[in-house]
Amino acid sequence: MAILTQDDVYNKMVNEKRPVCPHCGQEMVIWECPPVSFSDGSGWGTPFLYVCFNDDCPPYLEGWNHIMEHYANVASYRCICDPMSGKMDSMPVFSRDGGKGYIIDEEVKAREEARKAAEKRGLGKIEVYHEAGDADAILRVLLAEKTLPKVRLKAAEIIGEVGGLDVIEPIRNHAFEDDQVKERVEASIEMIHKRNYTKECPFCAEIIKARAVVCKHCGKDLPEAKSA
Ligand SMILES: [Zn+2]
Ligand SMILES: [Zn+2]
Repeated sequence: MAILTQDDVYNKMVNEKRPVCPHCGQEMVIWECPPVSFSDGSGWGTPFLYVCFNDDCPPYLEGWNHIMEHYANVASYRCICDPMSGKMDSMPVFSRDGGKGYIIDEEVKAREEARKAAEKRGLGKIEVYHEAGDADAILRVLLAEKTLPKVRLKAAEIIGEVGGLDVIEPIRNHAFEDDQVKERVEASIEMIHKRNYTKECPFCAEIIKARAVVCKHCGKDLPEAKSA
């Protein structure tokens, strides 16, 4: 069985639809399991759980009396759901707000919204640079470490429309991690070459005329130029 890291579980939960509590129908929230020191060492078995924190959820409402009657303790239950198996269960809470400090869903949503807003701003900037034909600005976005994936993808596409031959070298010297970006960058370079009737020498990588049969930089014979 593949071992899932905390990040794996987290990413799965953030990207999937939250389950609904089988007792009350309310959407459950992502909850980070607090550190435990159970003597049996079993712990939670997962870094995160889904929890129903609806204060009107029947098992939670009835739990106070039930536990008081049977165990003479002030406690109740919250419905929980294992994110990997989808299995529903319950955990004890000792107050109305017990465990609420570990809800991370609000934080997740806020972060997601901030990311979307930043992405929108980034795409807006690309549009402005595109209209202005500002290839340098687009190149900067394309190569910047902090650029968001969607924005980088857009920059990779637009650079082919506005870029001159001078953008090819900095792009070639950059290692892109995303395969989709790599593909778009290749298509863009192709587009720039077409516009300029150029190509790159397969031996020395210098930019030469598309129809050249000998590289003027390294002197090597070139594979036959494709007839346009
Ligand atoms: Zn519920
Ligand atoms: Zn050459």
